[in-house]
Amino acid sequence: MKLQIQNSFTAELPADPNQINVPRQVHQACYSYTLPKKPSNPSLIHASTEVANAIGLSQEDILSADFLNTFSGSTIYPSTKPYALSYAGHQFGNWAGQLGDGRAINLTEVVHENKSYTLQLKGAGPTPYSRTADGFAVLRSSIREHLCAEAMHYLGVPTTRSLSLMLSGDQVLRDVIYNGNPAYEKGAIVCRVAPSFIRFGSFELFASREDHVNLKLLADFTIKHHFSHIKKEGVEKYLAFFQEVTQTTLNMIVHWQRVGFVHGVMNTDNMSIHGVTIDYGPYGWLEDYNSTWTPNTTDSQHKRYRFGNQPEIALWNLYQLANALYPLIQDAKPLETILNAYSTNYEKEYLNMMKNKLGFQIKKEQDVVLIQSLTQLLERVETDMTIFFRNLSNVTKADTALTAFNAIKDAFYSEKDLDKTILEDWHDWFEMYSIRINEEAISDFVRKEQMDQVNPKYVLRNYMAQLCIDNADKGDYALLNELFEMLKNPYDEQPNSQKWFAKRPDWARNKVGCSMLSCSS
Ligand code: AMP
Ligand code: MG
Repeated sequence: MKLQIQNSFTAELPADPNQINVPRQVHQACYSYTLPKKPSNPSLIHASTEVANAIGLSQEDILSADFLNTFSGSTIYPSTKPYALSYAGHQFGNWAGQLGDGRAINLTEVVHENKSYTLQLKGAGPTPYSRTADGFAVLRSSIREHLCAEAMHYLGVPTTRSLSLMLSGDQVLRDVIYNGNPAYEKGAIVCRVAPSFIRFGSFELFASREDHVNLKLLADFTIKHHFSHIKKEGVEKYLAFFQEVTQTTLNMIVHWQRVGFVHGVMNTDNMSIHGVTIDYGPYGWLEDYNSTWTPNTTDSQHKRYRFGNQPEIALWNLYQLANALYPLIQDAKPLETILNAYSTNYEKEYLNMMKNKLGFQIKKEQDVVLIQSLTQLLERVETDMTIFFRNLSNVTKADTALTAFNAIKDAFYSEKDLDKTILEDWHDWFEMYSIRINEEAISDFVRKEQMDQVNPKYVLRNYMAQLCIDNADKGDYALLNELFEMLKNPYDEQPNSQKWFAKRPDWARNKVGCSMLSCSS
């Protein structure tokens, strides 16, 4: 197995001089050299061939002992020196101080076809940032990360990738629902891949300590290596950087709202500087279209990270990043200008995205109203988001309001919920929709084709991941393989997978792991 190694992060940024692996505050350093813990009996469960290819590895490499040893943390790849990142963050709106990679260890950077990637093991043991936790991850949460990261990629949502999923052979103690009943679960390790794992919180760490020397070093490094198209200097350079992070973050959120993804823990330490989805924990997929829904039971009281609040929270997080970068800019005005533009830009992009979901090409004044009334209607009774939008593309210009409604009827969880007023409101909405699609020049066929490229047929429904986990716990990975393959083509009709294009079964409604998740992972 041959990787083209590069180590710009550790070569150019300051290391923690202390190499003893005990939890502590780490000052004036971007990372601490840390070795993964040797797993007792590692085995490969699944690898993404596409991610392997992207970093220059073949199918043969995946099956090699080198691959198993390297990506389980068993042996250290030649010429590399693993390290854990230092960062801070705001958690649930409160300043949390130093956090850092408590259970993630960066193996190295690699270069392939002029692109550079950082490879990071998650669950490979304690680091100086583990605080009171153990540094490990369980199979349950590792399956969720591996499957979802790749599913998101194929949905066209910016995301970190997942190269591999391994069992460590060790047992890990977890209290799944924090009710004082911890139990042993299988330990697992995922290898995540991203341009870098620098977060908003990486900048917040130095800013909070007024360590402007390292703040500048990190910002200059990030721009030089990951935003190299920015040619400006001085203050302008940092502003251009912030502007771009704002834009890519906004784009990511629009994609989340498009597919119905709820991250669950949008703390600033979980916000990538690349505008990619990172840290798949207690995330979930909207089944019932409900803007107040969050899968994260840790957040059930305030629902800070609910579906409908994600755009607002991204902006709140960008404010924290702006504060952190302020010492390099020394002028709040231009930062405020960028932040103030976020809401208008978001509204614009959201409108475009929703128009695409509805199959509208031309610009019409009434679209905003049509979209608002639709999302309100979707919230009235339990309605499956994925099924609704996917089936909406079957509506034709010749349909009446009634036949159009029949095309999407499958999306309702219980027809009994549809009382007279709701039916009338749907009727009115479809009358407007019918007029609206008849104003479009494109044919029904073309509209359907375009809509089906933005409205996925297959998403990783919460209960699907849980079924995979239940089987995998017993050593059966067939479903994991099946779902992984299916989710590679989420927009295609896959007749053999029709059973996954269905409403959440009733048993999953209130089941732990399906609709309710905790941060315990
Ligand atoms: P999260 O919200 O999952 O991204 O985690 C927040 C912080 O807790 C990060 O610093 C993580 O590295 C750390 N953390 C989470 N789980 C563990 C664990 N099992 N062991 C050590 N640190 C952890
Ligand atoms: Mg995190």
